[in-house]
Amino acid sequence: MGAAGGALAAGTLIAGLRASRPQILILPNDGDSPELQPEDNRLKIVSRGEWGALPVDHSARNENGLYRKGGNPYGWYVYPAPLRESYQTLVIHHSAVYEADGPATLSEIQRLHRDDRGWADVGYHFMVDKDGTIYQGRDLTARGAHTAGFNTGSAGICLLGDFRFEAPSKDQLDAALALIRWLVELLSPTHLAGHQQFNPATICPGPFLAAQMEGLSRAAGLRFGIDGYRPAADAADGCGCCTCAL
Ligand SMILES: [Zn+2]
Repeated sequence: MGAAGGALAAGTLIAGLRASRPQILILPNDGDSPELQPEDNRLKIVSRGEWGALPVDHSARNENGLYRKGGNPYGWYVYPAPLRESYQTLVIHHSAVYEADGPATLSEIQRLHRDDRGWADVGYHFMVDKDGTIYQGRDLTARGAHTAGFNTGSAGICLLGDFRFEAPSKDQLDAALALIRWLVELLSPTHLAGHQQFNPATICPGPFLAAQMEGLSRAAGLRFGIDGYRPAADAADGCGCCTCAL
């Protein structure tokens, strides 16, 4: 695929991946997506509209308005360069909160991030349910709010569950790997890391998921760890941690 600087527009079939790789269909908010055929090996991402996400709140107290150099360094930051030049690391999280499969948990995470933490939107770019369903979070064109001090250039992927006490399911890990491989094609990151590697005070993503990190990195052809992080040249690194800062 060529330069992939655009947003993940709803309803866009991301084409051009090798046949052996799953393709991802972003389901549109209005439900007029092409029919998914059961025999297709396409991976889909459930859109924000489909899981009931609230819109981005640019009046949020801690991520208020748009980023301005010198004026509002912690605001909503949209990457000025193509995304392949903007991302270095995929950061893996767990949600810790777990209300129920799917949208109920996502809505609770978004509520926590918006209402309790004062961010403009859910902090993660993607979330993966225990049954392997992938959900769209914050738009990839915007800096996330998930890894305090290291958000710029870091795409946040949250697996739903509390992996201090349980292991991720095989379906969940398989879906996470498919998503990671697709993001490698889309963003050309160099590294994959667990949240705790950047922010040692958190236990996220929990020992049961942390044990999978090196294997996921290897399977996706990424290096493991935080060495890919590059401080932002023109942006303060934003607020943020994850819901699981225990
Ligand atoms: Zn985290």
